[in-house]
Amino acid sequence: MRVAVVGAGWAGLAAAVRATQAGHDVTVFETAGMPGGRARSDDDSDAATDNGQHILLGGYARTLALMREVGVDVERALLRVPLSVTYADGGGFALSRSGPRLLAAAGALAGARGFGIVDKLSAVAMSLAWRLRGFRCPPSMTVDELLRHAPTARVHRRLIEPLCVAALNTPSAEASAEVFLAVMRDSLFGARDASDLLLPQRPLAQLLPLPALAWLRARGADVRLRTRVDALERVEHRWRVGSDDLFDEAILATPAPEAARLTQTLAPAWSATAAALAHEPIVTIALTAPKRPWPAAMLALHSDDTSAPAQFAFKLGEQPADVDRVTLVVSAAGRWLQRGSDAVAAAAVLQYRQAFAIRDDEAVDVASVRADKRATFRCTAGVVRPAMAILPGLRAAADHVAGPYPATLESAVMAGETAAAALGG
Ligand SMILES: Cc1cc2nc3c(=O)[nH]c(=O)nc-3n(C[C@H](O)[C@H](O)[C@H](O)COP(=O)(O)OP(=O)(O)OC[C@H]3O[C@@H](n4cnc5c(N)ncnc54)[C@H](O)[C@@H]3O)c2cc1C
Repeated sequence: MRVAVVGAGWAGLAAAVRATQAGHDVTVFETAGMPGGRARSDDDSDAATDNGQHILLGGYARTLALMREVGVDVERALLRVPLSVTYADGGGFALSRSGPRLLAAAGALAGARGFGIVDKLSAVAMSLAWRLRGFRCPPSMTVDELLRHAPTARVHRRLIEPLCVAALNTPSAEASAEVFLAVMRDSLFGARDASDLLLPQRPLAQLLPLPALAWLRARGADVRLRTRVDALERVEHRWRVGSDDLFDEAILATPAPEAARLTQTLAPAWSATAAALAHEPIVTIALTAPKRPWPAAMLALHSDDTSAPAQFAFKLGEQPADVDRVTLVVSAAGRWLQRGSDAVAAAAVLQYRQAFAIRDDEAVDVASVRADKRATFRCTAGVVRPAMAILPGLRAAADHVAGPYPATLESAVMAGETAAAALGG
């Protein structure tokens, strides 16, 4: 079949690779000059800047398999470390890779630094209760409601909130407990290495987008960069995509607002569901700071709702001899961005200074501030996500499509692969 894929983010690339492998004649349309969508780099060099810090998990089985398929040396491209929520002062918890998962999680909680015995017991009781309930809860329940009777305020603030915001990009007061529990089940309490953090050692473009582009072109797929699809039209049983090309089937791998626009007259109900999704920003701040000891490559920061916006700090890649090159991440940043991105950056820098005891006469220089206003959809309790099937021969494949997980690279790849597998069905 002639298949059109609209969008060359991780979902579109996954769909295109799997459709090509299945023997289809694939054309990819991409507005930007670089593939990768929200997980892209500015250019194809080793020094390229990414559109925000990304981390992968050991449980991203489909993404890791796809990366290998297109020739990426996953072990070199990603630094694998056991899951930890470590603070600059060494507090927090680290998960051991050995032993049954529930015991490892209980052991990590019991050994967590900076927590009292009551905190630890409450955290262990909470995870046992999740397990006993099969990691299930009503779809309308928020993470805060899930935790109402369980852990202490410190466990909530210092362990659950950072995990929730990192995974769902939504504050725990509104975040879907159902999706949060699915993430916990399959990462923290899943297969032995599923909870490992995989920290990129290369620009994002080299993790999948550019190798997938080369793989597709080498196999005859037509990848058209700088080519925006303005409209979709049904022509008998086929699809006109863009100017005058006709395709047997099409996969819409664009963000939800664009998928809603393209389907507005073709499938009004589907389009309305996609258009109704709210989005949540992420702010990424790159800075240089005086050298300090770092207990781990990724650190949690004490964050709050009033003056401390950043949840995590990263020190990755080759470092200069004289300064630390650091990235600060503010997830669920909607509540902060009302003050403007410069104010968010200033507050995050102050937070960093306090965490690492940096004196006033020592310089912290901000290199860049990126505010991605539509980083992910808001994964709130009861959120209704659009289905993959739109019309015969037309499917959506992206991180917002209905599924068990929040908006992640793995959700995007899963959606792309599932849409490709359904071609002709
Ligand atoms: C700052 C930031 C940090 C993140 N951190 C993480 C993380 O740590 N871990 C994680 O797993 N996920 C993270 N995410 C989420 C992850 O990046 C997304 O879930 C994933 O990239 C979505 O992929 P996608 O293919 O579904 O959509 P997109 O990446 O949005 O791809 C859609 C593509 O469609 C193209 N397009 C749109 N309209 C058209 C059109 N009309 N014609 C042609 N092309 C079009 C766009 O240009 C884009 O390339 C983060 C996101 C951001 C923004």
